[in-house]
Amino acid sequence: MLTIDPQQLRDDIATLAQFVEPQTPGTTRRAFTDSYRAGRVWLCERMRDAGLTVAGDAGGNLIGRRDGSTPASPLLIGSHTDTVMGGGRFDGAIGVLGALAVARALRDAGIVLRHPLEVIDFLAEESTPLGSLFGSTAMAQGFTPAFLARDVSGWGVVADAIANMGGEPAKLLQPLRRSGDITAYLELHIEQGPVLEAADVPIGAVSGIVGIRRADIVCTGRPDHAGTASMAVRHDALATVAEIIQATEQAALSRLGAVATVGSLHVAPNQTNVVPGQVRFSVEMRSLDWSEVLAMWDEIVAAINLAGAKRGVTVQIGACEDSAPVQFPTWIRQIITQACGQFTDHVLELPSGAGHDGSMIGLIAPAGMIFVRTKDGRSHCPEEYAGNDDIVAGVNALLQAVLAIDTMSDMST
Ligand SMILES: [Zn+2]
Repeated sequence: MLTIDPQQLRDDIATLAQFVEPQTPGTTRRAFTDSYRAGRVWLCERMRDAGLTVAGDAGGNLIGRRDGSTPASPLLIGSHTDTVMGGGRFDGAIGVLGALAVARALRDAGIVLRHPLEVIDFLAEESTPLGSLFGSTAMAQGFTPAFLARDVSGWGVVADAIANMGGEPAKLLQPLRRSGDITAYLELHIEQGPVLEAADVPIGAVSGIVGIRRADIVCTGRPDHAGTASMAVRHDALATVAEIIQATEQAALSRLGAVATVGSLHVAPNQTNVVPGQVRFSVEMRSLDWSEVLAMWDEIVAAINLAGAKRGVTVQIGACEDSAPVQFPTWIRQIITQACGQFTDHVLELPSGAGHDGSMIGLIAPAGMIFVRTKDGRSHCPEEYAGNDDIVAGVNALLQAVLAIDTMSDMST
């Protein structure tokens, strides 16, 4: 059986991990920074070393291409090389470097696929103040002029940020690729959760990616002296939000497989001796079942209105930012399950609770993912860890899945 070179992969992961922003914790290589750019310059060289033809697209994606024996639509494999602040060295990186290892193994074995193979490093997958999922959104959806014109303090204008990474913002008002342009998209990623570890299996097949709804909410009460304003006359914005947080937690607790989080609070004036006058906060809900997300949101909105009315606090609910759930096609899930089965005795299928580039690409192409066991389920932190043997098993499964899709006689889905 054709397998990848584990030592080169290990070296690549270690080398990419050296591109970090100065004086930052863990592995910090945020999108649009100099360290991110330097890491991509190194990646370009590694792609060329593997015999790939390297080019950027208008979305700022970095793509290493290997021609196939037919003019068929390409098979796309990859992930992202940016990290969060204080992240780990495996999130995203193993997907890009694993895809590179697959291309290298094919080249070394002299195998030419029927389909062209594209190894992709999607631009800016992680959240920054500018946004997230840049490269995959450019490919599958495009952006609005308003989004491209957004000017974020300290990060600049979105269009400029994309242009600085080699993109062409003027071309991004429509999707860069359409249905039929990609034969399939496969992504290897760490699980970032506890399921595989608990089941004692190194890799797993992903059934789909949860849908996410996010909204910003502002509760405005009245700031008052914390000593002289009696409890009866107060319009405490933070006490209102405390009730909303409880309701948010409850909305998810009452549903299997759903999660809901208030993760960001900005309290004004945020002083010990002042009744909180205004709180700006976020609500986020996730589930593979979109009707559950909508039902949670209805409950939370009812709780927001009730809590506000009770304390004479006005509430302003911002526009919802939605990312629909993606169920991966059955045929890809079968291929991935079979490929994983060659490297683990027991194949587990699990949904992804985190968003990925696959959520976007899944809108225009058959997509699938392989997860690698993550120690203690920890991710987006310096402790993030995946064992080398597990990663190698995942990359070999990716290689087998690529070979299986390439040899399918009927590509219709
Ligand atoms: Zn990631």
